[in-house]
Amino acid sequence: METGRFVVKEVFSIRKIGILGGTFDPVHLGHLTAAEAVREAYDLEQVLFIPAGEPPHKLDQTKTAAWHRYWMTVLATLDNPKFDVSPVEIQREGVSYTIDTLMYFREKMGSESEIYFIAGADLVFEIAGWRRSDALFERCVFVIVTRPGFDFGRLRDNLSGVLTQAQLNRIAPLEIPALEVSSTEIRQKIKAGRTVRYLIPEAVDAYIRKNGLYR
Ligand code: ATP
Ligand code: MG
Repeated sequence: METGRFVVKEVFSIRKIGILGGTFDPVHLGHLTAAEAVREAYDLEQVLFIPAGEPPHKLDQTKTAAWHRYWMTVLATLDNPKFDVSPVEIQREGVSYTIDTLMYFREKMGSESEIYFIAGADLVFEIAGWRRSDALFERCVFVIVTRPGFDFGRLRDNLSGVLTQAQLNRIAPLEIPALEVSSTEIRQKIKAGRTVRYLIPEAVDAYIRKNGLYR
């Protein structure tokens, strides 16, 4: 796919990249503000949004077709020159594991590059259980952003029983402007015929209407 090649070509020359993985069903302003805050804080050259093909933790849920989630993410990130979307997980067969994605970009970018994996505070305790988490911690820094409803103050203390010291050193908490929005809430609102204006980009709203998603 054209976009895939474009992204792969682009990352060759990039040294500091952020990766935001997610289901993006649909992408919302919480994702965008988190990505922008991390980009600025770490002076990242690019933040790559990577929609999951088959997220391992959501196998039992009905998800919107992967390419719909991909295009909504493209529309949402269109006006930010430092944001891009990679179809790598959607094009890969089977369940999407973060380790495969990280190895892919590590190989493309070389060992000198810095990869910042962005995740919301709701995920932080799950990372230790992700496939080959030891290898994950060797290949990226996890920037954990605040998310309303999740205790952030004692993050490091709470993690000390779960992660090794070396792994803890690879966790970087970042406080961001809190946006209490989730894809689950957006899906429920659309289903109930309620407004989602100002929670998702207008173009994403238009795409959802045009394709009759979440009804
Ligand atoms: P769902 O409700 O379907 O789980 P979600 O809103 O949690 O959707 P995901 O696609 O699961 O969205 O999230 C992708 C990443 O973005 C995760 O790391 C998640 O923690 C983070 N994230 C999502 N919403 C926010 C938010 N409002 N503030 C900060 N981080 C967020
Ligand atoms: Mg989620």
